[in-house]
Amino acid sequence: MSETFTAGELERYARHIIMREIGGPGQRRLQGAKVLVVGAGGLGSPALIYLAAAGVGTIGIVDDDVVSLSNLQRQIIHATARVGAPKVESAKGAMHALNPHVVVRAHRTRVTEENAEALIKPYRLIIDGSDNIETRYILNRACVARGATLISAAITQWEGQVSVFKPWEDEPCYACVFPEPPREGQALSCAAGGVLGPLAGVMGSMIAVEAIKDIALAGRPLKGRLLVYNALDGESRTFEVEKRKGCPVCDVKRNPRAAVG
Ligand SMILES: [Zn+2]
Repeated sequence: MSETFTAGELERYARHIIMREIGGPGQRRLQGAKVLVVGAGGLGSPALIYLAAAGVGTIGIVDDDVVSLSNLQRQIIHATARVGAPKVESAKGAMHALNPHVVVRAHRTRVTEENAEALIKPYRLIIDGSDNIETRYILNRACVARGATLISAAITQWEGQVSVFKPWEDEPCYACVFPEPPREGQALSCAAGGVLGPLAGVMGSMIAVEAIKDIALAGRPLKGRLLVYNALDGESRTFEVEKRKGCPVCDVKRNPRAAVG
């Protein structure tokens, strides 16, 4: 991590550096941070763009998909000219166009039980912007075993939710809050139920906010709380969520692999 900023970096990050809660030390922490974003879709688009703009030193992207025309209503990191291109490469190009100083690692793959641990290993902060429940559970288990912070968000139609999971701080993990996957037909995918474009922007930006707070040690993290935003009603509510005794993932008595800090 460099001790001083170049003149260009000072100017680029001036609006963060001037803030008391971030300042020079927070900006240096951002430069030294390694963040993995799973999913370069609706949630990943604003999260990746804002993390790159903020100067997060190393940003990994996991996605095995290619850009399609129906993505562009909300996945604003991509572009019409890049339809058919791998999302990780399309996102990487957009991020470097905004900020050439950040290192972007493209992982063109899906998160599986087999590769999750190796994928997240180089990163301390993992962002889940994936579009399926199976990936969410796999990532949660890998983060608990590794002791990595997980920021998880989800959107469907007009509603979004976001939370930060640090189960070793006596806070819940993802599986504490969502012990069971939604039943068939209970949760609509974006393809089946639709999703409001800018809702992805709102929730994906909240992911980036929580990530920057976590890295720069600013403010009060959204851990032990679940924020739900209903765009149709123009309302957001924050619910307290608790660690579940006997959680098969993060309760050390049930799972000896659960990291204790
Ligand atoms: Zn748990």
